[in-house]
Amino acid sequence: MKIGFIGLGRMGSGMARNLLRAGHEVTVYNRTPEKAQVIAAEGARVADSPADAAAAADAVISMLADDHAVEEVTFGDRGILAGLKPGNVHISSSTISTALARRLAAVHAGRGQQYLSAPVFGRPDAAEAKRLVVVPAGAAELIERCRPLFDAIGRATFIAGDEPWRANAVKLCGNFMIASMLEAFSEAFAVLRKAGVDPHTFLEIVNSLFASPVYANYGRIMADERFEPAGFALKLGLKDVRLALAAAEECAAPMPFASVIRDQFLAAIAHGQSELDWSSIARVSARQAGL
Ligand code: NAP
Repeated sequence: MKIGFIGLGRMGSGMARNLLRAGHEVTVYNRTPEKAQVIAAEGARVADSPADAAAAADAVISMLADDHAVEEVTFGDRGILAGLKPGNVHISSSTISTALARRLAAVHAGRGQQYLSAPVFGRPDAAEAKRLVVVPAGAAELIERCRPLFDAIGRATFIAGDEPWRANAVKLCGNFMIASMLEAFSEAFAVLRKAGVDPHTFLEIVNSLFASPVYANYGRIMADERFEPAGFALKLGLKDVRLALAAAEECAAPMPFASVIRDQFLAAIAHGQSELDWSSIARVSARQAGL
């Protein structure tokens, strides 16, 4: 297929590369042009605007930081909306609010364009290795048409429903689960360090109890205290917890623990940790414990 790909950050660059490797014709756009040149060297065409990337594409995928970035790239001058031909599809893989996903679906429909939300689970190394878990939602026929793209970037695809915003609700709840695990590790490691137990010893036990790549990977990063370079920046983690709380409010379903985690992320940001990995939330519990 002819693909436009917008947003070549930590996640987007690996995803674009895998679409090229799968034989798709890929046109890329990134706000900072140097990142697009790297992918151009691997066979992508470089567009000079999101509209340009969308114009030649059957499907345009956006993988951008947050709601603000998606709004600028979609609705701005020379944005996706202006370039995408009627009948063609915008797939948003960024972790964004359920409210923005609903707006994207409505505005694209108003132009005769199609829209899917397809957020992903997995860190940049998984994006590079085609190991993402992709969660699309939207019209069933459209998801099937786009399935080769999900297969090109991921190891599994789980359909979240026929309304795009439901996939964003799934992604936000998934990240809430991961953030909860990070906070649990943070508190347990602080106690055990004070008790004189090596966190790596504890991690071996945890891994035998909760066999999960998420526990194993994050547990190792936190036991090693290896928070740089960030795979997922803490400021984006705060964004996701905030968006999970907003989705919870829309549904009138309280998430008390998400509020606690939001405050722990804020404490981390107050100590200059915005650009560290979100697992550096461990430093908050460590400081609280006088470590
Ligand atoms: P990142 O490395 O910070 O990349 C962000 C991308 O958004 C860059 O291409 C950046 O362009 C672009 N961008 C930011 N603001 C923009 C604006 N106003 N206008 C145009 N472009 C803008 O972030 P990432 O880690 O790849 O994450 C991307 C998305 O995936 C986020 O929604 C994140 O929550 C989600 N996600 C991340 C992970 C992870 O582990 N990292 C996993 C799953 C999902 P520049 O290069 O010009 O800055």
